[in-house]
Amino acid sequence: MENSVCEICDHDLGFRCGMQNSCYGNVESISDCDDFDYMDDSDDDDGEEPIDVTEPIECPNCGEDAYWDGSCYVCENDNCNWCGTL
Ligand SMILES: [Zn+2]
Repeated sequence: MENSVCEICDHDLGFRCGMQNSCYGNVESISDCDDFDYMDDSDDDDGEEPIDVTEPIECPNCGEDAYWDGSCYVCENDNCNWCGTL
């Protein structure tokens, strides 16, 4: 099934579809299967590491630690209050 997206689907059991879809091995596009899910490829290090938002950065304004608050970095220095992204 070289051209099938089933081989990159999370429901691929290697010989049949984990969702019991009869189209196993014949799905050429991810839009052709309602149950398609990209398999968890956490073993695959291709350089697309998500940013570790728990790590503080150095505030470019005052040099104190700035922590990610979900939308931007916020400096922990109350006298600075820098907020932004790098
Ligand atoms: Zn600061």
